[in-house]
Amino acid sequence: MTAPLPLVFDAPRRGMPPRHLADLDADGRRAAMEALGLPKFRADQIARQYYGRLQADPEQMTDLPEAMRAKVAEALFPPLLTAVRHIACDDGSTRKTLWKANDGTLLESVLMRYPDRATLCISSQAGCGMACPFCATGQAGLTRNLSTAEIVDQVRSAAAALRDGEVAGGPGRLSNIVFMGMGEPLANYRRVVSAVRRITSPSPDGFGISQRNVVVSTVGLAPAIRKLADEDLSVTLAVSLHTPDDELRDTLVPVNNRWPVAEVLDAARYYADKSGRRVSIEYALIRDINDQPWRADMLGKKLHKTLGSRVHVNVIPLNPTPGSKWDAAPKPVEREFVRRVNEAGVPCTVRDTRGQEIAAACGQLAAEG
Ligand code: SAH
Repeated sequence: MTAPLPLVFDAPRRGMPPRHLADLDADGRRAAMEALGLPKFRADQIARQYYGRLQADPEQMTDLPEAMRAKVAEALFPPLLTAVRHIACDDGSTRKTLWKANDGTLLESVLMRYPDRATLCISSQAGCGMACPFCATGQAGLTRNLSTAEIVDQVRSAAAALRDGEVAGGPGRLSNIVFMGMGEPLANYRRVVSAVRRITSPSPDGFGISQRNVVVSTVGLAPAIRKLADEDLSVTLAVSLHTPDDELRDTLVPVNNRWPVAEVLDAARYYADKSGRRVSIEYALIRDINDQPWRADMLGKKLHKTLGSRVHVNVIPLNPTPGSKWDAAPKPVEREFVRRVNEAGVPCTVRDTRGQEIAAACGQLAAEG
C-alpha cells in the first residue's frame, strides 16, 4: 500500500515562517548547534527550556550564557504567533485565542477545561481547502499550511497559560490535544505528524502529552489515513463522516467525490487494526438534512460491519454558521438518532458544545481580525 500520494497532502512551503526550534527533531537541533558553532549539549538544554519549562524567549533561559542568547534567539526562535485577543465563555472554562502569525495570517485555538482534564483544540492550517458547506472555516478557503512550529507553539502557549494560572479555575496541566481547529490536518501531513511527535515525546524532545490523549480529525483522505496508520502512533483518529451515503456526503464533505464512504471506512478499519485504537466518527446532526431515522440505521449498520466494536460515534449538534440556512436537529430527533445507532451495536453519544457564544464551537472558527 505505497501508491504515490496525490499532491493534496503536502502543499508547497508558500509563505512559511523561518525555521524555529520546534520544527526540528533531535538530530536537527544538534545540526543547528553545530552550524551556530555551539557545543551539542546546548541542543537538549534549549529544548528542555522550550518543552519542559515552556519558555520560548532565549533571553529568559538563564542556564544559557548571556552572550549566547541573542544568537540562539535569532537562529532558532523567530517570532511565530502573537495573541491578538483571548475571549472566554462558559464561566471562563472555555477560552478562544486569536493568533496572528508573523506574516499577518490569522488562526485560532480553543482551550476547554473540564473537571478532570484540559483540552486544547488546535489549528493545522490557516483556513481550510475542504469546502464543507456547514463549516465556517471551510467557507473562506485555505490561506496556507501552518509550519510544525506554528502548530506546536499553540500547545506551548496554552500549557504555559494553564500552568501560570491565567485561565479560570486556577493553575492546571494541559492533558489533551485535538486537531479539530482550523484546517484539514492530513492535507498538511508531514508537518502535522512532526507536530504530533513533538507534542507527545517526553522532554527534551516534546511536551510528553500521552499519544492516547491526542485526536487527529480528518474529512477522510483515505490514503493519508493509511499512511498515518503506518506511522505506528497510538493517537485517536476521528473521521468526519456526517452521513453514511455517498449521495449526500458528496455535498456535505465534497472530498467524498474523490474518496467515497466505503473507501474512508476501509481506511479507518486499517487504522483501527494497526493502532489498536477505537476510531471516532464525527456526525454533525443537521435538521432535515442528515438526521433521518433511516440514516441512523444505515450508519449503525455500515459501521458495525466495517469496524465492529472498534468505533464510537460522536454526534455534534450543528453549530449554525453566519448566513447558513441549516440548523441543529431538534432534541427528540437527536435522541432517536442516537438510540438507533446504539441499537445497531455502535456506541454513540452527543458531544458537549462549548464555546458557542464566542464562535469557538466546532466549525465556527473563522479568525475575523
Ligand atoms: N478538517 C478536520 C478537522 C476540523 S473540524 C475535519 O473535518 O475533521 C472538526 C469537526 O467539526 C469536524 O468533524 C467538522 O466536520 C465539525 N464541524 C465543522 N463545522 C461544524 C458546525 N458548523 N457544526 C458542528 N460541527 C462542525
